[in-house]
Amino acid sequence: MLPESEIPTQWYNIQADMPNKPVPMLNPKTKEPVTPEDLYMLFSCEASEQELNMTDSWIDIPEPVREMYANYRCTPLVRAYGLEEALGTPAHIYFKNESVSPIGSHKLNSALPQAYYCKQEGITNVTTETGAGQWGAALSYAAKVFGLEAAVYQVKVSYEQKPYRRSIMQTFGAQVTPSPSMSTRAGKDILTLYPNHQGSLGTAISEAVELAMMTPNCKYTLGSVLSHVTLHQTVIGLEAEKQMELAGEYPDVVVACFGGGSNFGGLAFPFMRHNIKDGKTTRFVAAEPASCPKLTRGEFCYDYGDESGYTPLIPMFTLGHNFRPANIHAGGLRYHGAGLVASQLLKDGLMEAVDIEQIESFEAGTLFAASEGIIPAPESCHAIAATIREAKKCIETGEQKTILFCLSGHGLIDMAAYDQYLAGNLINNSISDETIASNIKELKDSLNG
Ligand SMILES: *Cc1c(COP(=O)(O)O)cnc(C)c1O
Repeated sequence: MLPESEIPTQWYNIQADMPNKPVPMLNPKTKEPVTPEDLYMLFSCEASEQELNMTDSWIDIPEPVREMYANYRCTPLVRAYGLEEALGTPAHIYFKNESVSPIGSHKLNSALPQAYYCKQEGITNVTTETGAGQWGAALSYAAKVFGLEAAVYQVKVSYEQKPYRRSIMQTFGAQVTPSPSMSTRAGKDILTLYPNHQGSLGTAISEAVELAMMTPNCKYTLGSVLSHVTLHQTVIGLEAEKQMELAGEYPDVVVACFGGGSNFGGLAFPFMRHNIKDGKTTRFVAAEPASCPKLTRGEFCYDYGDESGYTPLIPMFTLGHNFRPANIHAGGLRYHGAGLVASQLLKDGLMEAVDIEQIESFEAGTLFAASEGIIPAPESCHAIAATIREAKKCIETGEQKTILFCLSGHGLIDMAAYDQYLAGNLINNSISDETIASNIKELKDSLNG
């Protein structure tokens, strides 16, 4: 463990150092590049400015946020001796354990500053969406800490199937509504067209955004995808950099699971700056589910962040905002698009992506649990599976590579998923090229039409 004084005082903004700057987001009405003012109606002013900041590599962490970080940071960097032994690999495997945060995942790292900036700016209410509930839980707690009211739209199928995260949000005092709901225009429209819609992150984002736009003194917050969210997550990589140094190592490969890219960028970008500036040659591997393969099989183009088209148009690897991913257990990875920074970096060859089938992810998670004693979140299982693939390559080549991955959260509230895996009831959900192509075509037709 590092002492509290070692908690970073600044976040790292890779946008300032990228060889090719990200393509700008567009205002959905004017189709002009978004300005901070366009974002003010959605987000706090500070978050809006961070989102578009292409010049400052380092951004100060406000002291009240740093004080809250100190309740659970620095998080441990752990050498996975047990996993190395179970695999019989010469590789050195390390993981950064973000599951030790009060809510059990990395999400709190961004929920705290987002809530703090709202409070500072005189906002009284925040809204958001949540899938499996990790982000909703983090935001609900952060809102409570800084004295805000939180309203959370939870994807309906998760609301019904994962009642415990709903209870967690309600325990922190948040109002939780299943999405699509009849409480917003967007929700009513979706339910009129599709009466049995089970909800998606896309529908829940539309509802949360609409509520924020229609309610005075209320802002929207997002737990992934956007650049300012990944910025806040760089505490993960900045701490890991110092901790690896204490261990006398530097990673050859950095691995994280990928939903919208925040835990990936949070761990990877501080190391990637040394590839960009100092000639290091670390590989960065994003692990996504095979059933939601935007990085490996999506297309790089403008798309909306939500189902109803309220958000700015984002230049990203996407499967189309109408994409309905299979109901896999890794709820946090079921998003149709990737953040614009990661999308640009993938396009420029600064990072790689792999896709992992659901059963392989749980095989990996179960092996990790048995060898390290921690039950990983279904999302994190994807990072572990990709790490195991890398470690197995080292067995073949005899190379002693150093692999660092992000344990983004624990799976103690996801035991129903493990039960299904252990009972042999999990399936792999494949998606055809035709489905992807027709989704992208639908997207392009809707943007041109
Ligand atoms: C939300 C979540 C993810 C995916 O989100 P990213 O922004 O891609 O990091 C991964 N792991 C856990 C535990 C999550 O809660």
